[in-house]
Amino acid sequence: MEKNQDCMYCMEDERRDHLMIEIGNLDVSTVFLFKEQTYRGRCNVVYKGHVKELFHLNEQESASFIHDVNRVAEALDKIFEPNKINYGAYGDTLHHLHMHIVPKYEGKENWGSTFEMNLGKTYLTDNEYNEMIEKIKTQLQID
Ligand SMILES: [Zn+2]
Repeated sequence: MEKNQDCMYCMEDERRDHLMIEIGNLDVSTVFLFKEQTYRGRCNVVYKGHVKELFHLNEQESASFIHDVNRVAEALDKIFEPNKINYGAYGDTLHHLHMHIVPKYEGKENWGSTFEMNLGKTYLTDNEYNEMIEKIKTQLQID
């Protein structure tokens, strides 16, 4: 698979690791925990290849990607019991298909509106991240 030298997801570099922690591999993607945890349980599902649009995938690939997204959303729903899960695919300046999976809670930050990409205000301890990651891995049945 072609790698883009300017892409933090392809290069798996510190720009990516500054924002998120790898949880594990799914069928056609990798799931990450966002370090900024205002929206408790927030994750990011990143497609395995440098692909700009969902419609650039063939039917099988896009079905597999959506399947991965669904697995993560369902796992987060079970663990964190949000009132709704939001999904976000933007990437104006980063053309590598990924979906933000953002649990939203009634009465909390941006309920009834769009989640913010990076509020920069809620960070956890390493232990708290690890606990969260273990719960998600268990729920996803991955190691
Ligand atoms: Zn890429």
